Formats: sequence, C-alpha cells, structure tokens
Amino acid sequence: MPLFVSVSPHPPGPLTSDPNSDPHPTLTFIQMKNATVFAALGAAILASSATAQTAQRHQEAQLQEPVIQVGGQSFGTWQEFQQSTTFKSLGLRCGLPPADPNFRFPASDCSGSSTTIKPEYNPANGLIQIPVVVHVIMNGAGTQGVISDAKVQSQIDILNEDFRAMAGTNGAGGTDTMVQFYLADRDPSNNPTTGITRSMNNTWFNDGGTYYNSLAWDTNRYLNIYTNQAGGALGYVPSLPQGGLVGSNSDRVVILWSTFGLNGPFGPPYNKGRTATHEVGHYLGLYHTFQGGCASAASCYTNGDRICDTNPDGGSHFGCPNTSSCSSPDPVKNYMEYTDDLCMDNFTPEQTNRMRCTIEHFRPNLARPPAACVAAGVTHRIAGSNLDVYTATAPVIGQNVTFTVDTSGFQFAQIFGVGSALSRPLDSGDWLLINIDSTILFNSGLLSGPIAQTSAVIANDPSMCGITIYTQAKLVNGTPRPLRLTNSQDLRIGN
Ligand SMILES: [Zn+2]
Repeated sequence: MPLFVSVSPHPPGPLTSDPNSDPHPTLTFIQMKNATVFAALGAAILASSATAQTAQRHQEAQLQEPVIQVGGQSFGTWQEFQQSTTFKSLGLRCGLPPADPNFRFPASDCSGSSTTIKPEYNPANGLIQIPVVVHVIMNGAGTQGVISDAKVQSQIDILNEDFRAMAGTNGAGGTDTMVQFYLADRDPSNNPTTGITRSMNNTWFNDGGTYYNSLAWDTNRYLNIYTNQAGGALGYVPSLPQGGLVGSNSDRVVILWSTFGLNGPFGPPYNKGRTATHEVGHYLGLYHTFQGGCASAASCYTNGDRICDTNPDGGSHFGCPNTSSCSSPDPVKNYMEYTDDLCMDNFTPEQTNRMRCTIEHFRPNLARPPAACVAAGVTHRIAGSNLDVYTATAPVIGQNVTFTVDTSGFQFAQIFGVGSALSRPLDSGDWLLINIDSTILFNSGLLSGPIAQTSAVIANDPSMCGITIYTQAKLVNGTPRPLRLTNSQDLRIGN
C-alpha cells in the first residue's frame, strides 16, 4: 500500500520562500514499503522521487512548526513524529537496507552470516587510526546543508569519545575499541588537506545522483562521510562492508546534515552526533542489535546481530526506555539501537571484536596513522619601505609561538596572520599584506611598546602540521594614524 506523506505549514501558507515551491499544502507520494527500501534502491530513484522533496521540506518546515501528516496520521512537530510508532515502522532512524538473502557472504571470522571471536581482534592489539574525509553537500544556493569546519571537527570528536569510551563523556562506560578517527591530513594525491570538501548541488543535496562518483576519495583508504538530506533517513550506509562494496565509489556513510556534529540544527533527540556513531558501526560491520528479533537468542554468533554479548532484542526502541522484550533487558543503550542520542553509550566487547575483525579482513587498507609532522619553521620576507622590526618564533604544535615588534617611534603595533595564499605577494610601499577577504587566523589587537610582544598557543593537533600562517605587523601612531608595515614572517606549523 502506498504511503502518503504531507507537510503543511501552520498556519496555512507557502512552505518556504522558495519561488519554485507549491504555495499550497502538498500531498507527496512516496513509493516504498519501508524506509530501508529507498537506500537499497539507491540514489538514482531518489533523484526523481518525491522522497527527496519531502526530506527538503522536512528541513524547511521544521522552522515553521509544521503539521506533518504521514500515512493518515498527523503530528504537530518533527520531534513528535520522530517519537511515534510511524517513524519507527518506517525505519527512518537508519536507512541500512536489508541484506540480500541470495548473497553469499565471503567466509571470514566476521562474515555477514557469523562472527568468530578471537583474541587477535582484541583492542589490546593496538590502536587503529582511520582517516576520514567529510563531503559537505549543500543545496545549489549554498543556503542549506551548511556545516562549519568546527562542526565537522565536533563530529570527529564525538566518534572518538564513543569509540574510545573516553572518560568524562557519554560513552565513558562503554568498550574502548582502540579505533579512532581523524580528518584526513593528506588527500589521495598526498597533498595537505583539511579532510573536508564542500559542494553545492540541489540533486546531490537531496541525496540524488551519483555524487559519490564525483566526490569519493579512494574508499579503500578513506572513510568517506557525506552530509546531505540522507534520502529522508537520519543516516545510512548502502550495505555492510561484508557485502562487497569496499573500494567502489558508493562505499560511504551518509548523514542527515542537520544531525551532524554536536548540537546540530535538527535539535533533540538527535543532536549529539550519534547518528554518525551508529552508521560508522555499520560501516565497520555491525548489525542492529535487534536484527532477527528474539530469535537471535539461539546460536547468537550465527543469527541476529551475530554477537552474543548484546542481549536479544525484540525490536528497535526509541527514546530511552527500560524494557525487556526477550526475557532479558533490551540493549537500548547500545549504539546499534535506535534510541535517542543521549541514551546511547556503548559498544560491547564482542561488537568491538567484530569491528576490528572487519577492518582487518574487509577494510585492510583503511587504517593508517596521520602523516608525519613537518619541522616548524619561519621564513622572513621584506619589501619596499616596510620596516624590518618584526620577529616570531617557530610554531610548534602544542607550544607557544611568540610575536615581537620593535615599536620605536610609534605608539602601537598590531600583528595579523592569515592562512591564505592571498597574502603571499609582498609589494613595495605602504599597503596591507593582509587581504581583508582572507580568513584572519590571528589578530593581536593593539600592542604598546617600546617592545610589543604577545603569544598564542598552537593547538596540539597533528593535523595542524604543515599549515603555514602568513603574518605581518603594522605600526600606528594615532591621529592621523600614519601606518607603516613591517616585514612578514611566514610561520610553518610543525614539531
Ligand atoms: Zn542502522
């Protein structure tokens, strides 16, 4: 039976200011038996289906206190909908498609059909570091799907809190998998990178088209995460790695952009970044804890979630209930459930064993440490009539860098630094080296002399290695504020 979803604003009126949108409440037709189907069918269908439009309206209407109608039911807010049995039955928490029953999983200790726990996959065997590239996909106008670098980093931090069971975090009581993640510091051509790409494309934003064929970095070597409308789900992976997609461009984790990172605009209960923790669990070979329902209690390594230390789970749960569905407490706090972000707090030891086995057998080229850090250095440049009175110490990660200006004859000095190559040209005469269109990384404010000095800490973050900050000072005398520029110091962050 077809499912009808409509979203009408309250009070009635246009859904958005989009001139292309229908000014009347819209009835949208979704062809799917359940939400997992759309992920299985793939993005090609989504591009032409109404699902993507609905997902977009989801975002747009969220700001307008919409009335949501799904399958003949009405919901006043998206939060209400997300707590409903309808949301649950649609499987919208996660769009992992069901496994093809005809697929023959390759034999291993962590195949699609069974798990064999072995000491060689225990966390004590060492830290596994996984480079991540985050592909931020925005709509064509760049007005939706916007995610800052800091928000991206917050998601990496949450993954590490959860996978490393870091003290003082929600996941402190879980298993330290000794698997951690870092934003890639080298792109596939071995050039320095932030590990973040950004694209603007309406089709891709609606999870349509084969965006991954254009954007993917070698999926053998990088965890490729995409943020967009995620096909109407909060997130999905196309299949477990045991299903044979590793190395293809389509091997990916897709996260609804508004649930990505800490305190995403989606809001509670999915704003603590655990949609990504859950989907990366799939990416590393884990099933849902409720796979197979209560039947998973028997022969637990070969049915259900193929794990024995997760209690059998009769079905998915929402919120954070205290329930028992198979004569034992439900594992509602496991990251592979469907519960609220704040409810989830653990992977089990056997899930950890299976994930590390999956990395070894199905993603053998994925793990590698960040690139070695470069030597910190300072390059001095001067041109024209600029004064040669400015020095800076070499910037070492985790340490202070000190900036010093001899302000003799002037009232104040002010030091600027940018990370943009726009500041490279240094011409003669009094002009500002710092391009005002650049992102200013450092601005000392006015410093008084005769020897003006300030310092800043370089974050103890290996991904900072190799970044050059272009710095320069200006000297000012007050009214009428004649300016003189100093030499520049190009600071290469290293160790
Ligand atoms: Zn899932």
